[in-house]
Amino acid sequence: MYRIVFLGPPGAGKGTQAATLARALGVPHLSTGDLLRGAVAAATPLGREADGYMRAGRLVPDDLVLGILGERLDAPDARSGFILDGFPRNLAQAEILERRVVLDHVVSFEIPSAELVRRLSARRICPTCQAVYNLDSKPPRVPGRCDRDGSELLQRPDDRPEAVEVRLRVYAEQTAPLLDFYRRRGLLRPLDASGAPEAIAERLRRLIA
Ligand SMILES: [Zn+2]
Repeated sequence: MYRIVFLGPPGAGKGTQAATLARALGVPHLSTGDLLRGAVAAATPLGREADGYMRAGRLVPDDLVLGILGERLDAPDARSGFILDGFPRNLAQAEILERRVVLDHVVSFEIPSAELVRRLSARRICPTCQAVYNLDSKPPRVPGRCDRDGSELLQRPDDRPEAVEVRLRVYAEQTAPLLDFYRRRGLLRPLDASGAPEAIAERLRRLIA
């Protein structure tokens, strides 16, 4: 079975790796955002409840997210496993999740914070169409301009190096107890997440084989 959780700081490449691995294993890739959007689109009772929070610009509560996740894990395509990307985020969520499902692997994306700061601070967005660029890995054709509409690209305040360092520190503080929790259960699989996506994917496959 491939019941897998991905843990890792913002910018560590979890989403990209989750999408690739999910395709290779034939299991669904479940991110919290996609889960919520899916439930809202399907207009399930829990989806309608979540929609109320999101329309009000409020955070959807843990137990509601878990309820939606539980429904999703019962779907036929999740029978041989799933990849949970970005969930659980804290110890309370991990404890609720443990009551609902047995996991096989918890992959912890490990990457030097200097590399993360470099990756995240290279990000630029288009204020017109919201397209996301990266000066290193996905630069625009004309420097500083959106490929689609020519708007001047901006750096989100969140992506400035000093803000990135704060985000990473907050993440490390929140996740440290989570890593301990899974280490004690023998589920933690540390992954060297630095370097090229193809090399990371290869290490990841070996880790869960
Ligand atoms: Zn644009």
